[in-house]
Amino acid sequence: MTALAARAQTLLQEIFGYHEFRGQQAEIITYVAAGNSCLVLMPTGGGKSLCYQLPALLRDGVTIVISPLIALMENQVTVLCEHGIRATYLNSSLPFAAVRTIEQNMLAGEYDLVYVAPERLLTIRFRALLQQVSIALFAIDEAHCVSQWGHDFRPEYGQLAILPQKFPQVPRIALTASADAKTRADILRCLALERARVFISSFDRPNICYRITARTDSRRQLLNFIRGNHPGEAGIVYCRSRKKTETTAAWLNNNNIPALAYHAGMETATRNQHQKKFLQADNIVMVATSAFGLGIDKPDIRFVAHLDLPRSIESYYQETGRAGRDGLPANAWMVYGAGDIIWLRLRIETDTAALPAPVKQAAIARLEALLAFCETTACRRMHLLGYLGEPSAANHSPCGYCDTCLTTNPVQDVTVAAQKALSCVYRTGQSFGVEYLIDVLTGKRTDRVRQWGHDHVSTFGIGQELSIEGWRFVFRHLLALGYFTLGEERFILQLAPTARGILRGETRVKLRLSPHFHLAASQRISP
Ligand code: ADP
Ligand code: ZN
Repeated sequence: MTALAARAQTLLQEIFGYHEFRGQQAEIITYVAAGNSCLVLMPTGGGKSLCYQLPALLRDGVTIVISPLIALMENQVTVLCEHGIRATYLNSSLPFAAVRTIEQNMLAGEYDLVYVAPERLLTIRFRALLQQVSIALFAIDEAHCVSQWGHDFRPEYGQLAILPQKFPQVPRIALTASADAKTRADILRCLALERARVFISSFDRPNICYRITARTDSRRQLLNFIRGNHPGEAGIVYCRSRKKTETTAAWLNNNNIPALAYHAGMETATRNQHQKKFLQADNIVMVATSAFGLGIDKPDIRFVAHLDLPRSIESYYQETGRAGRDGLPANAWMVYGAGDIIWLRLRIETDTAALPAPVKQAAIARLEALLAFCETTACRRMHLLGYLGEPSAANHSPCGYCDTCLTTNPVQDVTVAAQKALSCVYRTGQSFGVEYLIDVLTGKRTDRVRQWGHDHVSTFGIGQELSIEGWRFVFRHLLALGYFTLGEERFILQLAPTARGILRGETRVKLRLSPHFHLAASQRISP
């Protein structure tokens, strides 16, 4: 063990009171403490904070932690101070006099860690201050916020590119719990970490059992789920709307399940009070919007339920990841239906109306990936870990205890439809997107189809047996299963090498029976 590693080990026990490092913590901490930059991808609850808190103690100077949420930083600083660590935070909630005092203390070298919101870092005043102090390290928490492609983009984060520019000699550690390949590339570029090491921890949460069901009567389904599996236990129920959190909480209370609501529109005092009660008790169900949960560190949350689809697989993983942090069995349960899909599609339309086309396409791609996850007949855990880019062996074999592993779902053989879809891509020259291909398959003589002469190809009109939504379902799955590759900018489908097996009749394609085959005509919307 190097001297640095030995000192890290001692501090871990003496200051934090832990016996050993978890996962890659030791490696990351000694690497960063030695003055190197890196990107850390670690699931929620994996122990990211220690990866910069310990180097902060091992290195000379002050560590600046960039964190997006005020509530979160206050919480962390309180805990650190309880451990006797010299930490503070600077954010917009502080009166000017307090800011002045902290600034003077910083100049006097009195802090090991200072947490700041990204907008503070961009002020001239603060940057001037940084020039005058010795900086040990920059820690960029929730680093995925730099990416416009991701689900949680924050413009102030995009400007963190000034860190490597103005302070090239100061090491940087970027941390996130959610980063697919594209987001990861954005983080590395923005923070000039292209040559830095990337630490990827396993995203597997073996004690969480995933279950996703079609929605019938969601409240009743929720009640049955809680009564059947979690009587008297703590859990979180996520809803899309603020109003729904309140009505659902009231309804659960009427059914003798103690529940509280939480959303961003509530009075701060009430909201804090609800959060406090939930954290202290071990039997309260928190019914919340996605505003709840970041930084919540309650180990005994036994279930996370979703009454509405989250916005992306990343959000789903983050939100469900709040269950079972103590390592004991926990459930991630969700209901979804066609209504969710329509709502999310419309939402993408309005949210991205004024934005460049690639942003909208990225949002649609994320939704499609989420739907494919809901509808998969393969092991949920394998699917999830595969999507998250899990490097470990955990996604190589079915877990045996998620809902798809445990039940034999009614499946349908869609090989013939898949063959039609793939040949249509081939016959039209592998240059078109899903909607155009569906026009050809269902025999629509649109101007564009005629212009390309595709009303004369052999696949024109051979797909009358499915609705447009049914075809979207087929394309979505073929995409999710990797039979198509996508062009980088445009949504053009091309055949992946594996598609040949289906075309030759060697591979059969089986999918879960889907409600999307039966959408009423009035509900169909064009994307
Ligand atoms: P993340 O930021 O990755 O979501 P945290 O840093 O908040 O995770 O850590 C999650 C929990 O694990 C915290 O309660 C923390 O105190 C605990 N923890 C972190 N590292 C260790 C360790 N080496 N041993 C025991 N507990 C740890
Ligand atoms: Zn499984």
